[in-house]
Parts: sequence; C-alpha cells; structure tokens
Amino acid sequence: MKKLIAGNWKMNTTKAEALALAQALKTKLPKAAANFDLVISPPAIWLTSVADAVKDSGVQVGAQDGHTQEKGAFTGNIAAPMIKEAGASYVIVGHSERRQHHQEDNATVKAKAEASIKNGLIPIVCVGEVEAEREAGKQNDVVGKQLAESLPDAGHYVVAYEPVWAIGTGKTASAQDVKDMHAFIRAELAKKLDRPETVAILYGGSVKSSNAKEILSTENVDGVLVGGASLQADEFWAIAQAA
Ligand code: PEP
Repeated sequence: MKKLIAGNWKMNTTKAEALALAQALKTKLPKAAANFDLVISPPAIWLTSVADAVKDSGVQVGAQDGHTQEKGAFTGNIAAPMIKEAGASYVIVGHSERRQHHQEDNATVKAKAEASIKNGLIPIVCVGEVEAEREAGKQNDVVGKQLAESLPDAGHYVVAYEPVWAIGTGKTASAQDVKDMHAFIRAELAKKLDRPETVAILYGGSVKSSNAKEILSTENVDGVLVGGASLQADEFWAIAQAA
C-alpha cells in the first residue's frame, strides 16, 4: 500500500498563509506520487479555497472534523456533505484535542466516521493513550477500547495511532513502542475484518523530517499524521520524501 502522509494544520494559518502552503506543496507534487499520498487538513474556513488551489494536483485535502449529522441546528459545526462539496476527500475524527476539549466520546467518533463514509469521505480515526495510561502499562487496554468503540462497522477508513503525550511535545514513542502498538492495532483489526492489511495505520506525535524515515520504515506503519511540522512546506515535503 502507498504510504499516507497527512498534515493537520489545526487552528493555524491566515488565508494567505494557507494558500501559500498549499501552492508550495502543489508545486512540489503536481501529480500523484507513486509511493505516497499527500493530504493537507486546513482549518474548515479555508477548506474550499485550499481545495480549489490544489485541484487536479497530487495534493489531497482533509477536514479536521466533521459532524455526526448531515444538517440541522448545530451552531458552528460542519457536516460531511459540506466537506465533500468543499473538495475534501478525508476527514480527521476523534483527534485527541477534540476528545479532550470537546468531550468527544468513542460513540460520537464512530458516528462521525460513519457519516464521513456515507458521504464519500475517508475518515482518519485517531486513537491513543495519555501519559499516565502509558506509565501504568494500560496503553493496549485504552487503545483496544477506543478501536472497538470508535471504528465504523463498514467502509474504508484509516486509523491514526497518536499517543497523546507525544502530540506537540517533541517527544516521540520509541521505535519499539510504535512497532508493538501498530502490531496490536493490526491484530485488533483482524478481529473485525477479513483483510486487516487494507486499513492504513498512521503514527502521529512529533513527527519531523529527522525521525520520519525510522518511523515510516517500522513494520505496520502505513503513514504519518503530522501536526506542527506540516505547517512548513519544506519540512512536510521532507517527511513525505522519507516515504
Ligand atoms: C497531531 O496533532 O495530530 C500531531 C501529531 O501533532 P504534532 O505532529 O505537532 O505532534
């Protein structure tokens, strides 16, 4: 499978910065690469402009979140059909910042993932333990429960393992920890799918060009979800080159 290199810009960029970043990546990737897919996830308000800017290039676009419902009285939210119409093909759901700051539980994440699939989007379902859970040796219990309760029942999706303590902290999980957790996730997928190898499992947490090669060459790592380092075109591109 092609590696998936996904960037999450979070609540960053002015419109001019977003378009400049998209344009810089489009220049580097005018058509799809043979060995990786490149996805950028701008703030929702720039989604349409960024998708228009990279249209017909190798750069694809994702949203950072999408609602469980397709329309209605949900002030401030965006729905999967809107994300699709804006020109995106992916949507991140269950990011730890959504789980933490918006109290999203596994059932909500699953409903968001299913709404995404129903509307022709590929959800990137995030899971990962907090530091205290890792220190207590409970990471497999935590991630196992998140997978059991957040993954959609059918359809095409991506899993992103993001240990919460590694997000935006500069700390990365050790190669062995990544290997062990990705093998665990693959085994959990095998419990519900005939072909668990078709689901891409991304690693996320302080990925940068200096550690991308090691992470991307780890068994069962099918790509990366990148926060901070995806805000610089050259750095994000260097990460993609490691694939
Ligand atoms: C993320 O937010 O998904 C992430 C992995 O962030 P960072 O790369 O900055 O740790």
